[in-house]
Amino acid sequence: MKMNGRIDKMIWQSIAQVVMLLNKPQKKIGFLMHTNPDGDALGSALGLSKLMSNLGHQCLVISPNDFPDFLKWLPGAKGICLLNETLSGAVDFLKQADVVFVIDCNELTRISHLNEIFDGLSAYKVMIDHHPGPELQVDCILSDTSVSSTAELIFRFIQEACFLNSVDIDVAACLFTGIMTDTGCFSYNSSNRKTYETVASLLDYGINKDAIYYKVYDNFSAERMQLLGFSLSEKMEIIPGLHTAIIALSRSDLSRFRFQVGDTEGFVNYPLSIRGICFSVLFMEKDDLVKISFRSKGKFAVNDFSRKYFNGGGHVNASGGESYTGLEDTIRRFKALLPDYQDELSSYEE
Ligand code: 5GP
Ligand code: MN
Repeated sequence: MKMNGRIDKMIWQSIAQVVMLLNKPQKKIGFLMHTNPDGDALGSALGLSKLMSNLGHQCLVISPNDFPDFLKWLPGAKGICLLNETLSGAVDFLKQADVVFVIDCNELTRISHLNEIFDGLSAYKVMIDHHPGPELQVDCILSDTSVSSTAELIFRFIQEACFLNSVDIDVAACLFTGIMTDTGCFSYNSSNRKTYETVASLLDYGINKDAIYYKVYDNFSAERMQLLGFSLSEKMEIIPGLHTAIIALSRSDLSRFRFQVGDTEGFVNYPLSIRGICFSVLFMEKDDLVKISFRSKGKFAVNDFSRKYFNGGGHVNASGGESYTGLEDTIRRFKALLPDYQDELSSYEE
């Protein structure tokens, strides 16, 4: 299928070998995800890990860095090993692991700290992901860019592997969280009936969908709300001729509102609800880099844009990148690039 000028691809290799391994007793299984993990990465990894624990395996979920408070309630989240804090423990586990799942991620560069050891691991490696252009060298790729979320693919894997009997309410809660967050509560990437069939199956395990929504979306600090207000009223810049809106937050803006990991999650989506805006960008000044989030509506492929200019990637309408030239220079460079995209940005039909 061709969507937004890109080929929508599914690579679904045989799972026979990994299922054979997983049907043996007490295997060691590692779960890796991308830096700054979101609800889909965490929900998918924790859900699959809980399922594997239910099957009697020894599991370790590994995140490159810390994650937002509003995801810390996820079943199993307290046991996550953070690579930036306990690298050697994670590396020891991975070196002995029988199977390693790489989840919601398809590039080694997005799994900080493991670049040097990943290829040498003897484990059987399985990638389950929905980002375009898988680059990792693994034994089994399960990738579908047309699907709502990696969590939906995890459920597909569980079904195909005949592990449904080991799904419990925790697994279901984790996977539902992944689907809910990666679709913006079913507002995008969610026009396929399979997504709802998956949700229907997850509801059968007794999850409280509304309670999960509250835990994720009604769980912010007052400062986070104030930072949002400040970002929209003081920091949002509209470039009407180019159908673009940007928000730039400096280190001091962030510290003024006692920034915590995850506080700016979702900010970049707000400007897209302004009439005529089809490209929204959030710049955030971090210690040694500027983290950038790109969102678009329609055909403008922000993953190509971030890959080309800002060392990034992601999905057609939601991507991220990094810049190492400071906040002001990054914004200047960004603005200088925009006129080249005048036609593409103007072709957006409301
Ligand atoms: P966010 O803007 O929410 O951080 O990320 C949006 C999407 O872009 C997610 O799918 C995320 O995995 C991807 N993404 C974010 N930052 C980067 C990056 O630095 N490199 C790549 N390749 N993808 C990114
Ligand atoms: Mn995802």
